[in-house]
Amino acid sequence: MRVSKCLLETKPYLFVELSRKRAALEERGIDVVSLSVGDPDRPTPEFIVDAMVDALHDPAFHHYPSYAGSMEFRQAAAGYLASRFGVDVDPEREVLALIGSKEGLVHLGNAFVDEGDAVLAPSIGYPSYSAAATLRNADVWKMPTTARNGYLADFTQVPAEVLQRAKIMFLGYPNNPTGACAPESYLDEAIAFCRENDILLAHDNAYCDICYDGYRAPALLQRPGAREVGIEFFSLSKGYNMTGWRIAFAAGNAQAVQALATVKSNVDTGVFGAIQRAGAVALSSDQSTVRAQCACYQRRRDIVVPALNEMGLACTPPKATIYVWARIPEGWTSAAFADYLLQEVHVAVTPGSGYGVDGEGFIRISLTVPDDRLSEAIVRMRGVLHR
Ligand SMILES: *Cc1c(COP(=O)(O)O)cnc(C)c1O
Repeated sequence: MRVSKCLLETKPYLFVELSRKRAALEERGIDVVSLSVGDPDRPTPEFIVDAMVDALHDPAFHHYPSYAGSMEFRQAAAGYLASRFGVDVDPEREVLALIGSKEGLVHLGNAFVDEGDAVLAPSIGYPSYSAAATLRNADVWKMPTTARNGYLADFTQVPAEVLQRAKIMFLGYPNNPTGACAPESYLDEAIAFCRENDILLAHDNAYCDICYDGYRAPALLQRPGAREVGIEFFSLSKGYNMTGWRIAFAAGNAQAVQALATVKSNVDTGVFGAIQRAGAVALSSDQSTVRAQCACYQRRRDIVVPALNEMGLACTPPKATIYVWARIPEGWTSAAFADYLLQEVHVAVTPGSGYGVDGEGFIRISLTVPDDRLSEAIVRMRGVLHR
């Protein structure tokens, strides 16, 4: 059999490889502390689970769900955007339920990208942005994203020839993996740039509610003109510890939302209704569980950041996200350093280079492990990284 051209260009998803190596060690009975995957360690808040349990008994949910999402879920999403960001969207035309943001981000490629087109993605970024292009036989142009520019992808560098072919620009702040946050002025510049060049601006806002030190991350949709060029992705995965449930939503430009809905209606048949019910309950809640979760991550951040700096792994405390982005010692590649930590002290971290060439020289550490395991990882790392 012969797989597609685009599949030959597509590497297995970053974490597939990493978890294989980790699993190999664990199979030998080795206790690995995993700081590599951005999957919240705490369970989904009980009131959300309870809503799901109740919904499971409702036969109305035992049938095919609606393609675009239940009106209840889409209204809850719209209500969340209104109360959190002061953004008014039409739940009918401007909101679409997703089986997780990742699904929506990649399927956006099917809606907007043809062979030979280009997709603009940060040179350090979530792998799905590139997948939206490669799975369509399109090119990815990596916008320079470095410590020097505060990890704000520099779209002013896109060559004219690429701009002509560019269909989507992906951005995501607060950012995975760097933890960088974008000022509103940057979002405004991105909106102006995309309008000028007739590009769809896709903003991946998975971490808008995981903020520290009083910071409140903005939504793209809050900015003037955003709805003319933009679609924004919000996920319930991180804020409500719901990664396993697979639920998210896209909101924004009606044409973009409808285009994505058309792709999806040909691919999947919506999100299980009971999950949407639970999602609606989460989005309509008073968000106190999210605040408690943030306090927990902030405490872990404040354990990890000083410890890493003492070991010579320079990092700044992120204002948002569940990640610490740390510089590795001179003379190592990210992959070799991550492998060294895994093999020597059984601590799994993610090599920065996995997010693109500009991530070389960094590792990403996830705050999604209990405090005692985090401290255990620090003790182990200190054992080999003392200065
Ligand atoms: C975790 C994460 C998401 C959320 O993905 P889901 O598919 O909704 O679980 C989206 N984007 C980024 C950058 C993430 O880190």
